[in-house]
Amino acid sequence: MSSRIVDLIARKRDGGELTGAEIARMISDQTPDEQLAAFLMAVVFRGMTEAETIALLDAMLAGGTRLQWPWPVADKHSTGGVGDKTTLVVAPLVAACGVHVAKMSGRGLGHTGGTIDKLESIPGLRVDLTVEQMRAQVERVGIVVCAQTADLAPADGRLYALRDLTATVSSLPLIATSIMSKKIASGATRLALDVKSGEGALLPDQRSARELADLMVRLGTGHGIEATAFVSAMDQPLGWAVGNALEVEESVATLAGGGPDDLRALALEAAGWLVGDELRVRRALESGEALETYRRWIRAQGGDPDAPLEAAPVVQEVAAPFPATVTRCSARAVGGLAMRLGAGRPGKGDRIDHAVGVVVHRKRGDTVEQGQPLATVHARAEVDPVQVLDCFELDRRA
Ligand code: URA
Repeated sequence: MSSRIVDLIARKRDGGELTGAEIARMISDQTPDEQLAAFLMAVVFRGMTEAETIALLDAMLAGGTRLQWPWPVADKHSTGGVGDKTTLVVAPLVAACGVHVAKMSGRGLGHTGGTIDKLESIPGLRVDLTVEQMRAQVERVGIVVCAQTADLAPADGRLYALRDLTATVSSLPLIATSIMSKKIASGATRLALDVKSGEGALLPDQRSARELADLMVRLGTGHGIEATAFVSAMDQPLGWAVGNALEVEESVATLAGGGPDDLRALALEAAGWLVGDELRVRRALESGEALETYRRWIRAQGGDPDAPLEAAPVVQEVAAPFPATVTRCSARAVGGLAMRLGAGRPGKGDRIDHAVGVVVHRKRGDTVEQGQPLATVHARAEVDPVQVLDCFELDRRA
């Protein structure tokens, strides 16, 4: 006789293990939200064995479609952060080296941004494509980045929405299966995972970030994906710009050979692994091939790479009140400020303002003289400079 759902929840709550069939039953449409939510909370406290985690992933995949591309397809995923525009650089860089990129991305939530929101700041660009449109575009220009289709990993859609409402996001097996179900379903064959750690990331400490990274690689390998994962810092923003249009501009500057060092280094590392030839990737960046591929990609999705992006009416520089060394430029605080300006999305479905954001000019270890700019705010109205100064910790120099 099969156990009742309530008994399965109790077993997990008490530290027991569920079988694959029991996990599949638990996440099926027949299980009401309140029981599923209780199960998720039990997982947060008790964790899952490797066998349970694999079973959960299989059950999530069983309910949806898995795309198959006629060629090997590269994808990258970041667990999210502040100023993380790496996809906008890595995707064209990889495609410029002749490796197909077919990527579905998400929107931002809370203080972390999303690639789809950034792309939508480009006039005319379409992000809602069918699988057929994706395939035709990859065939024609070698690259597509669009929003997730509704039928991709539907079980994750339901689970993630419940986790968001019940404070059950932060669990390694739940995060790993959520991310990997989407990556496997979207047909990636080679995957670079960028797991962020630090105060602006989903996982603050480096040890759990490493554990998540290794778990996702194992799950991917089990489904025939060649995957690697690296842990990168998210205690301060990546690059200088935080905010959708501002981040697109910074990405284009990076593809043009400039841009901030940390963004460039991370993009080269991810693209180098995906292409399997770091020298080739560097050449694509330095020769302008990557920028040219970016322009072809944007045009293919209906965007105009030459159109000016929407600019905020107020551009306000905030200066250092005394000569100092910057000891902290807080990712969480800068992300929070950008969100209050309108660049982020407090809740699912909320509208965002593509033009606003923050550009930091100094990060940890940099020196600044009195009166020199620490950050520039792009906003609809002037902000209290204290909100900007609160993002920094400054060590006064004599
Ligand atoms: N991103 C996802 O897609 N899922 C999670 O659980 C966390 C981050």
